Amino acid sequence: MSQTLLEMAKDLVLAQIEAHRLSPEEMHQALQQTYTTLMTLHAQEGADGSVPVTTLETPPKPVDWRKSLTKHTVMCLECRQSFKQLSVRHLREHGLDGRSYRVKYGMPRTQPLSAKETTLKRKEIVQRARPWEKTPTFLKAQETAQKAVGQRKRTARKKA
Ligand SMILES: [Zn+2]
Repeated sequence: MSQTLLEMAKDLVLAQIEAHRLSPEEMHQALQQTYTTLMTLHAQEGADGSVPVTTLETPPKPVDWRKSLTKHTVMCLECRQSFKQLSVRHLREHGLDGRSYRVKYGMPRTQPLSAKETTLKRKEIVQRARPWEKTPTFLKAQETAQKAVGQRKRTARKKA
């Protein structure tokens, strides 16, 4: 700042007097008020000389969600607590759910919110249980295949 605040205040008040909007008697008070106002503005100025806009929320630093997932834990990016699995109930404490949490931290929609080991284990269980083998389509296909085998066997027996 090339001008001191007092100089700025004095100039502003002098300009008011010159414009006949202020009597010399009022000058002292006006000078004080202007100076106070300038002081306040100066205090609000950042180190780089820019006045911070308080209404504008500074965007949070992008967090690498991959770092929140380790072999044994998953860290909640909201409160930095570690879990084996991020539960819906926990996310609700932050006013989030699985979907909004993933969106907030730029995760893929299918990203499991659990420790890598837990995710792997669950995959193994799913593969062992083969839930799709219990679907009607699969069972019917199996049945048809077995009937075909039985028929072939019967045909073979007749020949023999
Ligand atoms: Zn949390």
